Amino acid sequence: MRIVIMGGAGFVGSHLCDRLIADRFEVVCVDSLLTGKAENVRHLLDRPSFTFVKGDITEPIEIPGPVDYVLNFASPASPMDYARHPIHTLKVGALGTYHALGLSQAKGAVFVLASTSEIYGDPEVSPQPESYWGHVNPIGPRSVYDEAKRFAEAISAAYHRQNGVDIRIARIFNTYGPRMRADDGRVVPAFINQALRGEPLTVFGDGSQTRSYCYVSDLVEGILALLSSSETDPVNIGNPREISVLEFAKMIISMTESSSAIEYHDLPVDDPKVRVPDISRAKSLLHWEPQVDLEEGLRRTIQWFRDG
Ligand code: NAD
Ligand code: UDP
Repeated sequence: MRIVIMGGAGFVGSHLCDRLIADRFEVVCVDSLLTGKAENVRHLLDRPSFTFVKGDITEPIEIPGPVDYVLNFASPASPMDYARHPIHTLKVGALGTYHALGLSQAKGAVFVLASTSEIYGDPEVSPQPESYWGHVNPIGPRSVYDEAKRFAEAISAAYHRQNGVDIRIARIFNTYGPRMRADDGRVVPAFINQALRGEPLTVFGDGSQTRSYCYVSDLVEGILALLSSSETDPVNIGNPREISVLEFAKMIISMTESSSAIEYHDLPVDDPKVRVPDISRAKSLLHWEPQVDLEEGLRRTIQWFRDG
């Protein structure tokens, strides 16, 4: 089986590459290295079944030879990254997904979209089931990501309906683990690195907003289960344990045995107040649920940043 992964040198994409190579897939990783790193896949470069192509999927993509699966994981994903690249984020979600779908159609390949819990916006329903249509500000600073991903879902569904492309849509909730950039601004690498350096942990707002954190190996298993299924409707993939940001900061301080204080900063505009996945569909359709609890996942991630 030959698989093309757009965004394969990023945090999640590189773990997928590892897992697929171990499973004897032939992997073509396409990445512009905008927010990813070549070193995330350097250890795979001498594998005959692995190819790295430096490319920007906002331009049309040509991949010679047969392809069985196309995975679109290319997009800035951290709020700080997409605030820094607003127009590119819209282009990669829209034009990039359009090109990836065109490639899937031309090759007769299954298309897998990395969608996101952000399509639910600042949700008025919690936990969020796939049937919830969301509450998104279409012109706010986060809209470049949210609306691009909503467009990506819409065009994937249209290619399925009109052209018969076989699609999978994974709505991914906050995922963490080794290979996140220490400076990508997301809460897990931010708090861990602040705690390890003895600096104050920067809690935005009063820290009462909630998130639910999925360890990356669980996400990879969920994506593989979805890919192997025949489910063309969206499926939430995430860990349903919900925790407030303030409670999370205290947990990181305790787990790193840090003497860091907590420092309160302004809450970013449109920061969702709650986020927790309803994973009933993933459980029943994919027989998948997370296996790594938050303490264990954080222990591994803290160790990885310590080893730095
Ligand atoms: P990441 O920034 O580490 O990875 C994204 C990768 O896409 C990077 O390697 C980047 O260089 C590449 N890329 C960006 N624009 C590109 C372009 N135009 N052409 C080719 N490559 C391009 O982020 P991540 O956390 O690994 O996220 C991967 C995917 O999963 C994203 O699509 C993201 O929206 C989705 N997702 C992630 C999370 C999460 O918590 N990590 C949650 C929901 C959705
Ligand atoms: N957050 C925070 N301090 C930080 C980074 C993030 O308090 O230094 C908060 C942020 O406001 C949000 C939550 O942590 O409520 C998760 O933020 P992240 O950027 O990881 O991803 P999001 O879930 O917002 O996409």
